Amino acid sequence: MTHFQVLVVGGGNAGLSITSKLLLKDSKLNIGIIEPSEKHYYQPAWTLVGGGVYNVKDTEKNERDFIPKGSTWVKDSVSTFEPDQNQVTCKSGAKYTYDYLIVVPGIQLNWHKVKGLKETLGKNGVTSNYSFNLAPYTYECIKNFKGGNALFTSPNTPVKCGGAPQKIMYLASDNFRKRGILKGSNVHFFNGGTMLFGVKKYAEVLQKIVNRYGIKEHHKHNLVEIDGDRKLAWFETPEGQRVEQAFDMIHVVPPQSAPDFVKYSPLAIQDPTLEAGTPCTPSTASPNFGGWVDVDKYTLQHNRYPNVFSCGDVANTPNAKTGAAVRKQAPVLVDNLMHVMKGGSLSAKYNGYGSCPLTTGYGKLVLAEFDYDNQPTETFPFNQAKERWSMWMLKTKVLPWMYWNRILQGKA
Ligand SMILES: Cc1cc2nc3c(=O)[nH]c(=O)nc-3n(C[C@H](O)[C@H](O)[C@H](O)COP(=O)(O)OP(=O)(O)OC[C@H]3O[C@@H](n4cnc5c(N)ncnc54)[C@H](O)[C@@H]3O)c2cc1C
Repeated sequence: MTHFQVLVVGGGNAGLSITSKLLLKDSKLNIGIIEPSEKHYYQPAWTLVGGGVYNVKDTEKNERDFIPKGSTWVKDSVSTFEPDQNQVTCKSGAKYTYDYLIVVPGIQLNWHKVKGLKETLGKNGVTSNYSFNLAPYTYECIKNFKGGNALFTSPNTPVKCGGAPQKIMYLASDNFRKRGILKGSNVHFFNGGTMLFGVKKYAEVLQKIVNRYGIKEHHKHNLVEIDGDRKLAWFETPEGQRVEQAFDMIHVVPPQSAPDFVKYSPLAIQDPTLEAGTPCTPSTASPNFGGWVDVDKYTLQHNRYPNVFSCGDVANTPNAKTGAAVRKQAPVLVDNLMHVMKGGSLSAKYNGYGSCPLTTGYGKLVLAEFDYDNQPTETFPFNQAKERWSMWMLKTKVLPWMYWNRILQGKA
């Protein structure tokens, strides 16, 4: 059995940034990264791919080229955690033990939870930027839209990048406007949540943008079924009402949760609907149980296993799940882990920072930045709630470069 001083589960945005940062602090650390994928993706650019302004090939690179030097890549996927034995078991059957564990396998996309969706994705005008394979089809749908109903959905679960369901809707509306077909079309936002945006300052500007494009809002409407051949979608309200809507194109954001191997593990938060002692399994868990890793929202240390840390999309921290959040969480996690290794106390704290670069049209972007209290925490010395070309350049040029050249190397 192989033992690592630090074992990282997931070599995505968080896993690579954290490993790089740890090795920059102490190059002698023995770190293993368990990651099944040969490819690494810059997911934030999939919005731009769907908008037709970014080449999907530039969002994919070889994982091997980004595994930090000095760490060991285990090309496998974890299937169970045994935190009482400081051990994980992989799909291949191999087991790995650790002194410290970092759990960062991201979020699970539950396409199957919308009836009929899997059967029709990628055809019949049904698309999603939440997949490398489908993002180019989004632009096909937008380009080929000749008027009628364009639907954009957001589920009633937490999602990665809560702004992404709207970003593509604004780009599509701007495309329709430029082609002179916006006025004769119906753009609908069907949102499983209750409002446009949780931060008042940005919600106000987004409302103006929604009005500018004439978008029809339907909050508390959760997508539950699609019939691609008949081009019909059904939504459910919390009151149990079922609403039917015809579409010519539909951009779907799938329901999301922690990955199943985390959700039903001892590392997940307790399902509040289960009595103490009842094991959390696919048949006992409540339908909306997220299963996120149970960490302290400030220190990112596990609430029951002190040698376990987590952050990123899989963690139970109530922030906007974004790469921007990971950038602020990674140094906190690394600092606290290094202190724990040396027998010290936890001093670094994450304030819930999240960011959402909202593409409100071609060449226009509102850079929302905020904390756990939904208070704006802006980086630049100007009002970021204003649509700006400079922030569009940040999103389309600067941030992708930073991701591949600084963030994954633990240097930003
Ligand atoms: C369309 C879209 C737009 C977005 N826009 C933005 C944006 O504008 N700004 C922003 O900041 N963020 C944005 N994001 C969100 C951002 O990509 C994520 O928040 C970020 O990647 C989270 O990092 P992570 O390391 O937690 O997860 P990921 O980067 O997803 O990495 C998880 C890794 O874990 C691996 N893994 C999965 N299962 C296992 C297993 N069983 N064992 C081992 N490894 C496993 C996966 O292969 C993956 O490599 C967007 C995302 C999408 C989809």
